[in-house]
Amino acid sequence: MPVRSVVVFCGSRPGRDPRWMQAAADLGRGLAEARIRLVYGGGKIGLMGAVADAALAHGGEVLGVIPEFLTTIEVAHGGLTALVVTGSMHARKQRMFDESDAFVTLPGGLGTLDETVEVITWAQLGLHRHPVLICNVAGWADGLLAAFGRTVMDGFSAESTRGLYEVVPDVAGVIGRLTALSVQPRVGGARL
Ligand code: AMP
Repeated sequence: MPVRSVVVFCGSRPGRDPRWMQAAADLGRGLAEARIRLVYGGGKIGLMGAVADAALAHGGEVLGVIPEFLTTIEVAHGGLTALVVTGSMHARKQRMFDESDAFVTLPGGLGTLDETVEVITWAQLGLHRHPVLICNVAGWADGLLAAFGRTVMDGFSAESTRGLYEVVPDVAGVIGRLTALSVQPRVGGARL
């Protein structure tokens, strides 16, 4: 099955390097042009807002999933194709997982890292086989990738965990992989 719906994890802030906001806009546009639905955290600020705005501007379908308590803090996006408001962060993560064929991580902060590590550890536990693509724009993920490698070096993770995610250098690489990938149908059932 081709990839039809992608969860994007990314920062709720713009970050210091303008290439990061640009990457978010490029990804939103690329997903829309590839007719792949964007599923994301529902905010209209930072990279989150940029990816959603660009997808919408190019005719894409965008589903936001935001917990009720963040609807004001993250300034929920009012113009999405659909916005689901959940009762908790855990319900948000579950819903995003249930809607996904693949995961993409763009630059971001602790929330982005948390979400990325979580889907990789779910893969490690055999709860899903969705692709996880880390888009290492301008080296923002170097520290994270070094930490992952360190857990292997120290004997805390199997060598095979390196195969649970793919690192791509730019948005063109992400779109190239998403359009080439064949994925399992979503099965659901995995629970936090
Ligand atoms: P950040 O990368 O910190 O800007 O956060 C990006 C996204 O992750 C936002 O949608 C946040 O709501 C979410 N987020 C922030 N903190 C957490 C957390 N502790 N657990 C899960 N998601 C989070």
